[in-house]
Amino acid sequence: MNKIADNLKKVRDNIEETCAKCARSSSEITLVVVVKSANFEQIKEVINLGCDHLGENRVQHLKIVTDDLSALAGQNPEQASICSKVNWHMIGHLQRNKVRQLLRISEFIHSVDTLRLAEEISKTASRLDICPSILMEVNCSQEPQKHGVPVGAAIHLAEQIATMPNIKLAGLMTMAPLTLDKDLVKAAFGRAKELFEEIQGEKIAGAHFKHLSMGMSQDYQIAIEHGATILRIGSAIFA
Ligand SMILES: *Cc1c(COP(=O)(O)O)cnc(C)c1O
Repeated sequence: MNKIADNLKKVRDNIEETCAKCARSSSEITLVVVVKSANFEQIKEVINLGCDHLGENRVQHLKIVTDDLSALAGQNPEQASICSKVNWHMIGHLQRNKVRQLLRISEFIHSVDTLRLAEEISKTASRLDICPSILMEVNCSQEPQKHGVPVGAAIHLAEQIATMPNIKLAGLMTMAPLTLDKDLVKAAFGRAKELFEEIQGEKIAGAHFKHLSMGMSQDYQIAIEHGATILRIGSAIFA
């Protein structure tokens, strides 16, 4: 087996194993393969290995990759049917002036952390006559340099976003602190889970509020134990 197929199998096996340990079903979990450091050959390879949720953190790169995939699909009908199944997730920090370009490619955005950005998305989506799903990014690690709305302001922002006509508030996203200290990672994911349940319990956002996006190559097993429904994994697959 080649390296990427081998890595992917290990990740999928680990997800199964961790789910079994904490009495969850792996069918509740979506693996988003993060391709920001992958080349085009590697991206085609994961698509052909059945990965249908891919994540990217720069709009410009997303545009190049999806244009290249469309060109490939144009030449090859078999690739066309495989590529048409790919769902793109925008996972990186998003500037308001990139929203229009992004929404033509992806209708799932993980990184919404301000009212102004949410307003821009809703306004642009209304012009395009679409209703994208977004996750509110929360800074659960309490590191000041991080993106994400502070935990204490999250409920209020969720309430505001939930009233916007052309947005579905589909859940929360968070990143663990950059540390080898597992207790700090667990504390951050625990905080995200608590906030997620609070927003669900208060019925702020409706039935589509069901995703908790957390867990990367270093910490996805801990994230599963804390209720993650979307994992964003790159280097464990491509390194
Ligand atoms: C790069 C990135 C990931 C994936 O990180 P790995 O450590 O490569 O698995 C996940 N989420 C975001 C927001 C990223 O920028």
